[in-house]
Amino acid sequence: MPPSSHRANPLSPFLIFMVLLALAASVRAAPPYPPVTVNVQAEHLIGHSYYVPGLAGAASTANQGFMSNAGFVVTPAGVVVFDTLGSPSLAAAMVERIRAITDAPIRRVIVSHYHADHYYGAQVFKEAGAEIWAHEAARGVLGSEAARERYAQRVEILGDWINPATQRFPSPDLWLSGDTDFELGGVRFLIRHVGPAHSPEDLVMFVEPDRVLFAGDLIFKGRVPFVGDADSKRWLAALDRLIALQPKLLVPGHGGASEEPVEDLTLTRDYLLFLRERMGRAVEDMVPFDEAYDAVDWGRYQSMPAFQEANRRNAYNTYILMERESLGQ
Ligand SMILES: [Zn+2]
Repeated sequence: MPPSSHRANPLSPFLIFMVLLALAASVRAAPPYPPVTVNVQAEHLIGHSYYVPGLAGAASTANQGFMSNAGFVVTPAGVVVFDTLGSPSLAAAMVERIRAITDAPIRRVIVSHYHADHYYGAQVFKEAGAEIWAHEAARGVLGSEAARERYAQRVEILGDWINPATQRFPSPDLWLSGDTDFELGGVRFLIRHVGPAHSPEDLVMFVEPDRVLFAGDLIFKGRVPFVGDADSKRWLAALDRLIALQPKLLVPGHGGASEEPVEDLTLTRDYLLFLRERMGRAVEDMVPFDEAYDAVDWGRYQSMPAFQEANRRNAYNTYILMERESLGQ
């Protein structure tokens, strides 16, 4: 060190103080994500497990994109998060809720599937130091045309919170190729790949000591599910595996947590079986779809929420699927 560097500068402590003050002010003045005003709350389920219940309905300015659930599990060695909500702003609110409960580091995020309402908050957890885990069947999704279209749609509806200045799409740190079990802080987690069902990459998470199942969109509680172009045969197989876990509590992707998980799993399973049985028979007898649809007695499901919106399309998609299956495709 040259002797000159030992010369005291009377201003330096003051300068350091000013720099720190400026830094602190800049942190306060520019929060990284525009805040949401919807009520993002953490509800304790049992033991280590919590969930953040989303609001009802499709993405809208009114719900600020807060329409899916997320969950988290607190262990002495860190926090495991399941799904990240529908925007960075919502995820930032969720991190605040976690911070109110524990100072433990957020270690890992499991993304159930790559639908906008479940993964748009991922970057916030990554910034907080977490690793993102997802199933490799989602590899192509992030850069796909469908993902670009969905993003444009989200910017249009939720531009205050989702726009090019706020939204990033980090790649997962780890692509899972199948079922993966791990332990953190003495808590055992079973990650199950149950796709292709609701999506090819569907993952669910079972917290073994709590017997809590975070089920993503595989289960629709108390309502007719949206089957979309799902492969209902695989979906049924997945539901049987989840029933075998005998969960005590189940957190679906949408709607409240269920204290009768096996009943809810069975309802979804019976509905899919019913669709396949009725539409399969129509295909076999070469009855055109409209005629087949009108001939079915939908009485068991008619009074359930989402029947009007979803049932006919579900039946039609199942009809097409059964046609394909009958041709051995
Ligand atoms: Zn979904």
